[in-house]
Amino acid sequence: MVKPLLDGFKIFRKDFFAKDKDFFNRLIKRGQKPKIMVISCSDSRVDPAILFGTRPGELFVVRNVANLVPPYAPDDGYHGVSAAIEFAVRDLLVDHIIVLGHAYCGGICALCDDYKLEITQNNKSDKNVTREFINSWINISRPAIMKVDFSNWSELSRSQAEQLSIVNSLTNLMTFPWVLEAMNKKKLLIHGWWFDMENAELWSNDKGKESFSKLML
Ligand SMILES: [Zn+2]
Repeated sequence: MVKPLLDGFKIFRKDFFAKDKDFFNRLIKRGQKPKIMVISCSDSRVDPAILFGTRPGELFVVRNVANLVPPYAPDDGYHGVSAAIEFAVRDLLVDHIIVLGHAYCGGICALCDDYKLEITQNNKSDKNVTREFINSWINISRPAIMKVDFSNWSELSRSQAEQLSIVNSLTNLMTFPWVLEAMNKKKLLIHGWWFDMENAELWSNDKGKESFSKLML
């Protein structure tokens, strides 16, 4: 059923657009100039604009399965996420990039399940490859989740895997030469945030560490 979306659009047109046409005209005339890029999960429960209360034009967003950043790989592949990062950093000149992870991430959970199966079977060839694209995509975070203690799995391990994956994405971000250059020139800051959707808390990666601290808001 897409009707609720059309109803929602009608409300947007009446209550948002019609009430502030000048705002949209300005956005059209001057173009978008967002200062913040958010890389978040495709998960329907984690919408950056809703979470951060932003208006059109404020956030440049790329969403993908498990909010991953692949490493820099300048080849002929279809690098949708890398293209978005390139546009944000080299053209929009954003000041901040936020990698926004979250609790109960299905992508990270699938990666952990794959890895758990692999270490219990002790055989890589028996990997749980059930999808054509998802398995190789989430493997981007494989180096991160290998640090999780799978022999003593708990709810905390799940959060730990999600947070280590964010750190891995931050590390991958810095493999893009123009990201690193902008950071070195103090023109760009990168952040790793984890959204605890159970308690509506935001956790931030401690600079230079793998740990996260709750943001006091
Ligand atoms: Zn997710």
